[in-house]
Amino acid sequence: MAGLRIGGLTPLTSIDFPGRLAAVVFCQGCPWRCSYCHNPDLIPPRGPGNLPWGQVLDFLAGRRGLLDGVVFSGGEPTLQASLPDAMHEVRALGFQVALHTAGMYPERLAAVLPLVDWVGLDIKGPARHYDAITRTPGSGTRVMASLDLVVASGVDYECRTTWDPELFCEDELINLVGTLAAHGVRHWALQPRGTAGRPSVPPEGIAHRLAAAYPHVFMRLP
Ligand code: SF4
Repeated sequence: MAGLRIGGLTPLTSIDFPGRLAAVVFCQGCPWRCSYCHNPDLIPPRGPGNLPWGQVLDFLAGRRGLLDGVVFSGGEPTLQASLPDAMHEVRALGFQVALHTAGMYPERLAAVLPLVDWVGLDIKGPARHYDAITRTPGSGTRVMASLDLVVASGVDYECRTTWDPELFCEDELINLVGTLAAHGVRHWALQPRGTAGRPSVPPEGIAHRLAAAYPHVFMRLP
């Protein structure tokens, strides 16, 4: 049995795996330190996790016929060497598999892509801002390698960008989508980041600018 370290479990979601009812397994640990991390409790990579993997499998066994799939999210799922085994075990129960990843380990991503039905790949920003956003040197180069793997794999996917104009400006965001399109990306989502006192509202007209610039990219905009 895989020894995946689990920080938490959402028993039912209809939004994290497009078109499927799924459970979400939150994997413990991430080597990056994004300022806006949505799950800081999942960052520390050490320790056994909050939920034994065997308990997650027992839960899933009781949901056969009720759920379509399982989402491996985090944290960063590809951090853990036992992810492929965990995915095999989930598939053996009859579930489809989705992966949410920031793409920091292209070699490990390549190893699990054959086990995955859908990938949500975070694209955190233009190359020149990547290391500042992740607080990790060399991060952007690795993500572009992962991006190319996902596009070439034929696996369904969505690239997602959490955007805050304090991180990079609107023109850079538009250009980022152009860079992704040049890499073959055809599915992209914008996730504006809000803060207390500053709601996450996309700028007026950005949908029109994006659609006009890249009509061949399907965009999910808020
Ligand atoms: S990659 Fe994701 S989990 Fe890791 S620090 Fe950044 S936002 Fe948090």
